[in-house]
Amino acid sequence: MKPPLRLDEPLPVLTPREIHARLSQYVIGQEHAKRALAVAAYGHAKRVALRRASREVALQKSNVLLIGPTGCGKTHLARHLARVLEVPFHVADATEFTEAGYYGKDVETMIGELLLRASHSIEEAQRGIVFVDEVDKIARRSQPVRGGAGQRDIGGEGVQQALLKLLEGREVHVPLGLGGPQWARRDTVPVDTTDILFVCAGTFSDLFAYGGDGRSLGFGAARPGTTAARRRIRPRDLVEYGMLAEFLGRLPVVVQLDELGPEALLEVLTGPPDAVLRQMRALLAADGVELDVTEGALRELVAFARERGAGARGLRAVVEEALAELLFEAPERGGTRVLLDAAWVRARLEAIGPGMLAAEEPERLAGG
Ligand code: ADP
Repeated sequence: MKPPLRLDEPLPVLTPREIHARLSQYVIGQEHAKRALAVAAYGHAKRVALRRASREVALQKSNVLLIGPTGCGKTHLARHLARVLEVPFHVADATEFTEAGYYGKDVETMIGELLLRASHSIEEAQRGIVFVDEVDKIARRSQPVRGGAGQRDIGGEGVQQALLKLLEGREVHVPLGLGGPQWARRDTVPVDTTDILFVCAGTFSDLFAYGGDGRSLGFGAARPGTTAARRRIRPRDLVEYGMLAEFLGRLPVVVQLDELGPEALLEVLTGPPDAVLRQMRALLAADGVELDVTEGALRELVAFARERGAGARGLRAVVEEALAELLFEAPERGGTRVLLDAAWVRARLEAIGPGMLAAEEPERLAGG
């Protein structure tokens, strides 16, 4: 636990530029989103610091809504933001929740999970970040989407309403002992959500697939090999989509992310300290195998990942498949140097085909 600040002490808050710079080490591209999040996080950190210093605060929190295709870095961005700010972080999926009183998880459990990540420190949890994925799947059903995207999940509107009280920053009663025995889960503890930053995310792909003039627009309609044109989504579009105005009102920062193009994917593959290729190299090096990768191999890996259409999420799976044999043999190959070229990648991956989906990313990334 950190000691409270003295009133004459300067606030230890990173500037938006510093936050942006730190995010950029791990997050490729998405300039607009990084800048917007840096500003939101700056306000968030300042508000928390001011409150800690027991100063009067009238700063409203700026929860964020991220809109962008699968695997473009929405979760990645929020996770690294939490790291930069050194606050607890939890990823929740909006589709797991039900409105109060129905069978399923209550929204309070996501705060309970955050408390777990904060090692049960309520004070730490109260300044954490909760990432709520798939909020587009809890759109209201009563209004059919133009273009007929089909029925949405039952109770979506109720879940939006349940989430409102967290977004608004009220005190909620959070079940203790999550993951523990059933009897322990009945005990609850009050947690104030005023300073918890919520980053909601969704693909809202129907909005892109069925643009106003009936043409296919944006990333929802993108085929592999094409870079999608981007359409600006307005609040009105989101309301028409089935998001409650009150819900959107609590997400004042709305940011659209771009689909990652081939150059960005190349950079994701090799650039960041936790880049998958760096991880593989380190893994092989531990067995005494040195891995050299040609530019052609990198482009081939990116091409295969793009074919799968899951953005950067596909990269790890593609690399693991290309290296599967080598990883198997590595302990016997100590002291050798291996060259991974385009032909190798093609030979391994063409046998498997594009059908398989990438594995989910582990909760904690190696490195960083
Ligand atoms: P989503 O937008 O679906 O939430 P994720 O953030 O889960 O996508 O991305 C999946 C993985 O792909 C991340 O864990 C990260 O390794 C990688 N990734 C995605 N986008 C980026 C990016 N812009 N920069 C660096 N890595 C990225």
